[in-house]
Amino acid sequence: MTPYISELLQFIERSPSPFHAVDNVCRRLRAQGFQPLPEAELWKLEPGGCYYVTRNLSSCIAFRLPEEGKPRSFLLTASHSDSPTFKLKENYELASPAYTRLNVERYGGMLYAPWFDRPLSVAGRLLVRRGNKLETRLVALDKDVAVIPNVAIHMNRKLNDGYSFAPQQDLIPLLGGPEAKGMLKRLLAGAADAEPEAIAGSDLTLYLREPGRVAGLQDEFVLAPRLDDLECAFGTLEGFLQAGSFDACPVYCLFDNEEVGSATRQGADSSFLSDVLTRLAEALGMSAQELRAAAASSLMLSADNAHAVHPNHPELSDPENQVVMNGGIVVKFNANQRYTSDGVSSALFREICRRAGVPTQAYANRSDMPGGSTLGNIANTHVSLHTVDIGLAQLAMHSCFETAGTADVAYLVQAAKAFYETSLRIEGDGTYLLSRD
Ligand code: ZN
Repeated sequence: MTPYISELLQFIERSPSPFHAVDNVCRRLRAQGFQPLPEAELWKLEPGGCYYVTRNLSSCIAFRLPEEGKPRSFLLTASHSDSPTFKLKENYELASPAYTRLNVERYGGMLYAPWFDRPLSVAGRLLVRRGNKLETRLVALDKDVAVIPNVAIHMNRKLNDGYSFAPQQDLIPLLGGPEAKGMLKRLLAGAADAEPEAIAGSDLTLYLREPGRVAGLQDEFVLAPRLDDLECAFGTLEGFLQAGSFDACPVYCLFDNEEVGSATRQGADSSFLSDVLTRLAEALGMSAQELRAAAASSLMLSADNAHAVHPNHPELSDPENQVVMNGGIVVKFNANQRYTSDGVSSALFREICRRAGVPTQAYANRSDMPGGSTLGNIANTHVSLHTVDIGLAQLAMHSCFETAGTADVAYLVQAAKAFYETSLRIEGDGTYLLSRD
């Protein structure tokens, strides 16, 4: 199989919720010698140390300190841990004479149609009462428990003519017959090794247990849930861990809540990154002046997937700035700065890729389409950094089963590794020195 694809699919399968994604990243980091830094404690950092911080257990920032001295710049990647899905409401059972259904609301801007007629399961976190403590338990039911059934074509002949779905009516999953009431809570409690009465709080979402797979006549495509943005979360993590020698301080960020605008306690539009960089600097005895000088010499890759030109709708892409799967890393541009890439940040990143032998391609929306946005420009309002928006080309973004190119994952790993190993000097506002050890 193409390099990294089975590892990527395993990472996605084990990450049915942002909590699980961050948990998997942290396990990986600990296995490589990274130490956790609790936000509620004072930090003592050692030169050459490797550390990570989580917030809400759904966002994570990891960094590696230089063997000696203070960091003179930071090289950061940022991706997101969340994907569009359905969140269970607090009172999540809907009883009717014939059925028990699941009371859910939409999280993020998903495509509705792919969620129909799929076996669905539930994952997330529970707060469980244990004596005088509340403890977090991550749960992912290893059982399909729900389905959102389509209406038969015989009952609505207009369903193929652009039907408009009503969320409170059409997007309600079926759990079982009337006797199923109360069963889901017992199942979740069992998965958390707790009594149902001990569950004090929860953040639960629907997910697809169906494993991702490779498809295409020449295995060109990888089809899986949550490729946006676990593909970038995985690829940048691999590059971060593989980077050997480094001159700057490498930082890996994974933020929750990108799909709902990032303005949460743990999202890219929070103080999380600036708090971590400030505390890191304080713990290393860096002055405010030194931290700001380092930030001014830094570069961030905001890594989130991009729209490949659609095979049946090429007219939806810009005629020249369109991208393909397996064509290399996408650098995204937007005049109104929904993407942060500019002449400088794109030149720096493309130069790194050129030297590493990684192909890149340029993306811009059609001029009459607003397109999506991502986390780079949002994070920049808290910590201003040279930032370039990149990603991997995919189809069916925000479907519950997306399609990407199998060759691109290795390109991202290679590019992220080369990026983290880069030595960057910014001489004033106009000259940039790039070298690699
Ligand atoms: Zn995304």
